[in-house]
Amino acid sequence: MNNLNLKASEVVVREVRLGSITGFSGSAEELVGCARCGKLTDQARSFSQTLGCSASNASCTVILIQDAAVISHGPVGCAGCLHEFAFTYRVNGVHRGLSKTTPRRIFSTDLTEKDTIYGGNQKLADAIREVYDRTHANAIFIVTTCASGIIGDDVEGIAGEAEEELGVPVVAIFCEGFRSKIWTSGFDAGYHGIARKLIKAPEKKQEDLINIVNFWGTDIFAEWFGRLNLRANYLTPYATIDQIAHASEAKATIQICSTLGSYLGAALEQEYGVEEIKTSPPYGIPQTERWFRELGRITNREQEVERFLAEERERWLPRIRELREKLSGKSAYVTAGASHGHSLLAILKELGMKPQGAAIFHHDPLYDNGDVNADTLQHVVNDYGDVPGYNVCNKQEFELVNILNRVRPDILLARHGGMTLWGAKFGIPSLLIGDEHFGMGYQGLVRYGERILETIENDEFVKNLEKHAINPYTKWWLDQDPYTFLGGDLNVQRD
Ligand code: SF4
Repeated sequence: MNNLNLKASEVVVREVRLGSITGFSGSAEELVGCARCGKLTDQARSFSQTLGCSASNASCTVILIQDAAVISHGPVGCAGCLHEFAFTYRVNGVHRGLSKTTPRRIFSTDLTEKDTIYGGNQKLADAIREVYDRTHANAIFIVTTCASGIIGDDVEGIAGEAEEELGVPVVAIFCEGFRSKIWTSGFDAGYHGIARKLIKAPEKKQEDLINIVNFWGTDIFAEWFGRLNLRANYLTPYATIDQIAHASEAKATIQICSTLGSYLGAALEQEYGVEEIKTSPPYGIPQTERWFRELGRITNREQEVERFLAEERERWLPRIRELREKLSGKSAYVTAGASHGHSLLAILKELGMKPQGAAIFHHDPLYDNGDVNADTLQHVVNDYGDVPGYNVCNKQEFELVNILNRVRPDILLARHGGMTLWGAKFGIPSLLIGDEHFGMGYQGLVRYGERILETIENDEFVKNLEKHAINPYTKWWLDQDPYTFLGGDLNVQRD
């Protein structure tokens, strides 16, 4: 395992900590091979469009905690996208059994040009008190931004003073966008703050409690775990500060996406001996069986798990076979974050489809647990064979559009809002599933298969859209090699 330093206030970014990259073109097998023999090198782009921002990903780990408040310490624009999480909280709360979803408590210190000269320390200290008076939150998180980082505000010191005065955790999260080209470094920054300041030493171990590091997916684990006599402790969306504080008492930690939970899973194991299930999440049949058997081993429920798997097979395999017949040979393209993108590729292959490529936002050669066998892309390649046209690209839409124009798959699968638009403009049926639990297990294959079929069969809207859509990219660009700017010459000329 990598040695995580929870005494430091700031987390080391993924490029340095894990050797992660954002530029690669080749096949999935080549990428896994490069990672395994230590030859993974990042390829820079001589032209790049806008990237995501770590501050948003860090905010995702804390805004959705039921009883927390979050202060973005920076210009108000840096908090401009955070309202999305308020929407997400409301919409998905019902799928997580919340009878009432409270408004999210999101604030900004609104640093101005003048503050960048005279400093924003006082503004932050005042904001923390004001936020506490208004919300009486059980914890306050401060999310830093490029501006507060550049001017060198003492965010850690101010958080410490406020914590002493108010008697609730005040957690500084260092996630300035300029720190990393890999915005998932923001997840690590959020979990670093949570692991350092919120999670307490266990009072007593709870042998049937399993931590689930996830986003906002539907609560499928209550039914699964109920049959195995286990209980789910979801981290961190929809959890309370108290629930998170007791995560150290769980028997094990699982992740629905290793890109998301890498840091927290490893931190819980390192600090409190909560065993992390290191094998990939349960997407596709071989991985579902491996994952459940590992859960059974760790929780001493091997026989119960075998019974569970037999029941699942009996119930869902006939429908999976029917779907395979209908979908066999259909082509697909995937665009998503790293580990969840690998899971989508496994689903497609399991349903007999042919992924023609993928635009995946970054690649981690290893996760924080340091276990080579935890590599989620390696599992896909070993179980189903190679995926051609594997592109690591941090949402460089110009590359995606160029590739889609050439490949023209039967369906585009996306995980992030806004990405399906590019497929639809070419008349390609495009599907975005926001619920990350949707494709898990045997039933997940049925759910995904049915949605894919429905999307391919109902293509009238995208075919009409194609006739009227205006593509911002010129013919010149669409005729170029999609990787012209990857590791390329800074002086490429336009005709
Ligand atoms: S990259 Fe920097 S300036 Fe832009 S939103 Fe993120 S923190 Fe703010």
